[in-house]
Order: sequence, then C-alpha cells, then structure tokens
Amino acid sequence: MKPSTAITSMARSGIREIMELASQTEGAIHLEVGEPNFNTPEHVTQAASEAGFDGFTRYTPNAGIQPLREALADKVRERNGLDATADQVIVTAGAVAGLYSAMAALVDPGSEILVSDPSWPNYALMMQLQGIDPVYYPLRSENDLVPNAAEIEPLITERTKAIIHNSPGNPTGAITPRESLIELLELAREHDLWVFSDEVYDEMWFDHPPVAMGPLDPDGRVVSFFSFSKTYAMTGWRVGYMVAPEGLSESIIKAQEPITSCVNAPAQKAALAAVTGPQECVQEMRQSYTERRDEVVAVLEDRGVPFVRPTGAFYLMVDVSPSGSQGMPFARRLVEEKGVAVVPGTTFGPESGKYVRVSLATATEPLLEGVGRLADAVLGWGADS
Ligand code: PLP
Repeated sequence: MKPSTAITSMARSGIREIMELASQTEGAIHLEVGEPNFNTPEHVTQAASEAGFDGFTRYTPNAGIQPLREALADKVRERNGLDATADQVIVTAGAVAGLYSAMAALVDPGSEILVSDPSWPNYALMMQLQGIDPVYYPLRSENDLVPNAAEIEPLITERTKAIIHNSPGNPTGAITPRESLIELLELAREHDLWVFSDEVYDEMWFDHPPVAMGPLDPDGRVVSFFSFSKTYAMTGWRVGYMVAPEGLSESIIKAQEPITSCVNAPAQKAALAAVTGPQECVQEMRQSYTERRDEVVAVLEDRGVPFVRPTGAFYLMVDVSPSGSQGMPFARRLVEEKGVAVVPGTTFGPESGKYVRVSLATATEPLLEGVGRLADAVLGWGADS
C-alpha cells in the first residue's frame, strides 16, 4: 500500500524548505513569510468569542450565513465595483478552498488551466490533486510582471478550460492595468475559457487601487476570489469568499459540500464583524506596507540591485542574477552565510529562477537589515567569482 501518485509526485514547497533552514539558523531574518505581521483587530476576535459563548457553533449553510453573504455583496459592490447579489457570494474556507471548489465544479480532470510563471504555487498543486495540467504563461519584467494576452494565445489548446489571473499579485507585487484585463477577457471569450480572478490582495495596494476583473466581464465567465486573510490579518481564521457569475453559484456550492461543507461558524461571525466594522485597521496596514515598500525600493535603487517595483500586495521581486547564482542554491546560501530567508523564484514557476521574493510583511528594522544583506549577496557574490 502506498500514497496516491498525485501526492508522491508533488514537489516539496520551496517556502517550507527555506523556513525550516532559517528556523535552524539563530537570529535569521525572515523575509520569506507571506502573512501580515499584525494582529487580527480586537473587535473581530471579540465577535467570534461571543458567537462561541452564544452557542453559534453548528454547521451553517454550505455557502455561508446569509448576513455575511449580504454584507459581502455590499462590500464587492462598494469597494470592487462588482454588482453582485448575495446569491452569487459563496463563503469559503480561505480563498484556497474557494479556488479548489471552483476548479472541481468547472474544470474536468485531463483539462489544462493557464497559470502565470511566476504564480502562487498552490494553484499548480491543487491542479495536480485534481488531475488538471497547469500550463504556464510568462510574466516579464519588461512588462512589469503583468500578463500579455498575445503571448498567452499560442499556449491555448483544445484541453484549455480556464485561465488564472492574480492582481495584485503574489509573488509579483504587480497590479494588472485595465487594458490588459480587457485583453485577457477578450482572449477568454474567443476561446471560451473560465477566468479565475484571484483578488485576495484587493485592499493591499500602494499607489492606486487595483481594477477588479469582474465588472469588466460582459458574459459571465469570471469567478472572483477574495479573502479576509490579508485584508484583516486573519490568515489563521480561514475565511475567504468568491463571487460567481449569475446562475453558476449552485454548481460551486454543490462542490463545497464534500470539500469543506461550510466555514467554521464563529469565524463567519468574526468575518461579518470585520467587513461591517471600522476599516481604519485596513488603512493602517496599507500605510505601513507602503512605507516599507518605499524604504526597500530606496535601498535597492541606491545599491543598484535590479528589482521590479511593486504596486500592490506586499511582495517585491529582486533579480539576483548579478550574483552568478539563482534558485534554491542562492536562497540556501543566503540563509547560511547572511542569515536572511527569502523565497527562491523557482518556487513560483519553472522560468522564474532569477528572482527571489521578499515579503514586506516584516517589521521595518529587520526588513531593511535583511534587504541590505541581500544586496551585499547579489552584488558581492558575483564579484567574488
Ligand atoms: N491567493 C494568493 C495569491 C495568495 O497569496 C494566497 C495566500 O497566500 C491565497 C490565495 C490564499 O488565501 P487564503 O488564506 O484566503 O486561503
């Protein structure tokens, strides 16, 4: 007896590998983490605690409690310009479970889904579990790491059923402009593809808010994914939500039953408090990330290290090619010799080895110290060899 082929062939997460190495290195600076270094706002935790003590501890409907679905329909209308009814909103166990359910509901095993290189590795992992093949489309630094529809079109085959797009992006920190979103949608329409629009960083932007994909969709092919994880520093609560085109929710809700059934009931009350309560916490976090982005950019520019200037999420991609090394060997050496953990680009796609991802979700002082040491490595190691 042995585990399934899907599991045995699944690559080990590059993020975990670096985290483990860094945890054995005393005083290591952690720039690999992908979660806010803030606490969940107190009123949110309070709401969950009250729900628990009030006995709100049973199964809920698959799609989430009605007041939360209604509040989220208001949220996407007001903040994302997405005109959706509560029936189109599905509460999920993090965006990750939403993506998994949507894939299971809309894409057959044996199909292909287009996904960017680099991209959040879980997309490809969940495809692998469902017998779907990821086909990578490139994101180029010359194009600010946003997709170019003309480069994607030749990758489409008879088996292609969907395209995943993520803006603001992890690991790119890039926000896709409206024109590129429209081009992607035209491509999807021509080839009759679903569009999975991952917008979990919708409130994490630096210079201007992102344009949502859903409102640009005239014919009901975009499923939009959002989350409480990053916006309200709630990664461990596991609450996300998606907005499905009219008439499609029922199929996705059906898929949710065998996967998670429903989201933790007190956590749904916490989410309701988060989305309907004061929003200053979101502005404060956004302000902190923006200040950190500006400081890190200043250091990298000053030192002459190549990087892609991020406009959203809380990540920044540094091009480490001047060091003469890349991928996991670069990242391991950086932990061992400089005591700094970053994620090697190879974690995010086969052609992204020249980058490492730096997370801005780290307090400013260690962040700047770590980026300084990273710059020493990028510029110094090349000179050594
Ligand atoms: N999508 C992207 C691009 C992410 O970076 C993450 C988490 O890191 C998620 C989705 C998953 O978010 P959640 O915590 O809501 O499952």
